[in-house]
Formats: sequence, C-alpha cells, structure tokens
Amino acid sequence: MENFETGAIRTQTERTHYDEHSTPLFLTSSFVFQDAEDMRASFAGETNKNLYSRFSNPNVNEFTDKIVKMEGAEAGYSFATGMAAIFSTIAPLVESGDHILSCQSIFGSTHTLFKKYFPKWGIETTYFKAEEINEIEKYITPKTKILYAETPTNPAIEVIDLEILGKVAKKHNLILIVDNCFATPYIQKPIDFGADLVVHSATKLIDGQGRVLGGVVVGRADLVHEIFLFSRNTGPAMSPFNAWVLSKSLETLAVRVEKHCENALKVAEFLEAHPQVSLVKYPFLKSHPNYEVAKKQMKLGGNIVAFEVKGGIEAGRKFLNNVKMCSLSANLGDTRTIVTHPASTTHSKLSDEERLEVGITPGLVRCSVGLENVEDIISDLKQALEA
Ligand SMILES: *Cc1c(COP(=O)(O)O)cnc(C)c1O
Repeated sequence: MENFETGAIRTQTERTHYDEHSTPLFLTSSFVFQDAEDMRASFAGETNKNLYSRFSNPNVNEFTDKIVKMEGAEAGYSFATGMAAIFSTIAPLVESGDHILSCQSIFGSTHTLFKKYFPKWGIETTYFKAEEINEIEKYITPKTKILYAETPTNPAIEVIDLEILGKVAKKHNLILIVDNCFATPYIQKPIDFGADLVVHSATKLIDGQGRVLGGVVVGRADLVHEIFLFSRNTGPAMSPFNAWVLSKSLETLAVRVEKHCENALKVAEFLEAHPQVSLVKYPFLKSHPNYEVAKKQMKLGGNIVAFEVKGGIEAGRKFLNNVKMCSLSANLGDTRTIVTHPASTTHSKLSDEERLEVGITPGLVRCSVGLENVEDIISDLKQALEA
C-alpha cells in the first residue's frame, strides 16, 4: 500500500489538455455527453462519468479518494459540513423504531440531532458514559442498529476503546460509526478496530487553516452507496471550491499534525507543572486515566489539551480575558492556538450537574494548540494564568 504522505500528495484527478501540475478547480455544475447513448449509459451508472456536481465532481472525488485511502476504507462521499456528513450518514441507515447507542460526550450539534430531531421520527438514542465502556452491552436492545462514538471526546478529552466498540458491534451486528475528527486518519484509523463508517468534520484539522467548511464519510462500500443515494437526492454536497482547498490541505496533513501534537504535548507538560492548574487532560500524558488505551489506538496525542484553572467559572473567564496571542474562537485544529471556556459559552445553558455529567468542570479551558512557536504559546498561557 502507498504510504500515507505519498497518497495525500500524489492522488490526483486526471490532468486536462493543459498538463497542469497542481489539480485545477473544476467549477462546473454539470458535465456534457457525446451523444444520446453516452448520456443514457452515464445515467444508468454504466460509466464513471460525472453527471452533475450534486452527485460528483472531479475536485470532490479527489478529496474523497484521499480520505478513503488514508482511513483504509472502501468508499466515501463528501459533504458541505461535518454536520451534513453526520446527519446524512445516519439518516438513510435508520428507520422509525430503531435505536442508537452512543457515547455521552459528543459534539453539541450531534447531541441535538440525537435528542431533539431523531426522536420526532421515532429514533431513540441512549448514551453510555466513557467509564462504562466494559458494560455497554447492557444498553443494547433488539432495536439497536447503530453504535456511535467520538474519540477523543470534546471537550472532556476522554479516550474510548475502539477495540471494545469494534467487538461489541460485530457480536451484536451493529453498524459502528466513529467521528474521527479530533484524531484525523494520521493519528487513528477506526476501521482497523472494526468501524464500519468513519465521519469527519473536514473544517477542523483536515483544513487546518480555518478557511472552509467540509465533511466526509468513508467506510464499507454497501453503506456508503446507501448514503450516496440519499445524499444525491437531498443535496448536502461539498462545493468543488471547498474540495479543491481541502485536497491541498491534505498534502500537508502529516507534517501539520506531527507539529500540532509535538506542541500540544509540550503545552500539556507545562500546564501539568503549573500551580494555578489543578488538572490537565491530554491522551499522551501518563496521568490521563485512559493513557494505555490512547497509546494502543493513537499514534500521537492530538492537538487538544483540556485543563482546569483553579478558582472555578470566574477563574476560567479571567484566564480567557488575559490571553494576549491565543484567539478566543469556536473553531479548532487551526494553525492559530485557540482557547475556549465551555462552562460560560457552549455549555452555559446546562446546570452544574449536567455539565459535570459530560465532564465539564467550572474552570475547564479547552486549548486547541496551533503551529506558532511553542515557546510563544506557553509564554502566553503562563502570563494569562499568572495575571
Ligand atoms: C466541528 C465538529 C463537528 C461538526 O462539523 P462542522 O464542519 O462544523 O459541521 C462534528 N464533530 C466534531 C467532533 C467536531 O469537532
């Protein structure tokens, strides 16, 4: 098999007659046919031609092919956003009466989908806590169709054992879907542990430069075909422009992720030694409760570090007000280091107890460590902790 970096760089759609070296942008909504027979055969799926960019487009195909290779999958389909990918992956695979079993700490909009919208269509979701990983079978019912997980989780940075999920899914004939956004395929390949489908928000580390939105699903060809048929009719397609940007982004994914993780480990070690910090959560710190699992399934620790500033909600807010270089922003996986305070922002509507349920303590700060010089990142965090 082609090595990761080589596939990321050398996977290329066909050259046009201009012989361009770097793949051009195919901004076209549709494609032409030679004659009636060519058109008939293309519509019947007997050719590999692109028909219409809601179905496929050369730039989107190139981006998707790269992620398919990186994750070791059979097929894939790309979407306008990560949430479009998550919704359009699950929707065609479930029907009224089905049940989803998911880890509790998941992306906020995925939670809204599971708890506000799917129940309207008779699809119920049960959550398991990260520490219940050895007993999740107790939640499986004859109606359970999908096992869903994110790892590492946001913002609590729990690590969920993919090997256990893969075994349980196989034993009970469930479709295992893993949101691999925080790890990227460079760090973690859920399909190796038995995942049937892997979803991504390409907006995060895959773009890595805070420019465009995107999403993708890859995995088993039969399931991806169902997702494709649903999506070509419902229309959540990725734009060719975003696909062109994201395909370029993938050329540098390996080097960016290496550096992100190197910086993040140094930041985590600095924070762990700081007297104003009571707890640091980073998968590759020995103090992380799931350190052994992280080492088993992840090549590196990722770029997200969560830590508890002593002094509760007010201390968390004060820390944010005192950073000078780091950005206060909702994105993550950017070249720029970003800090957020979940208790006063994304999770402010929950009660203290509800927040604790999902691992959000009052002074918890989430730091998406960027690619600036790590000494500059650390000195900004240090002055903000000591201000
Ligand atoms: C951001 C994110 C999403 C949603 O992606 P969008 O591109 O913003 O729609 C889904 N899952 C995780 C883990 C994320 O961080």
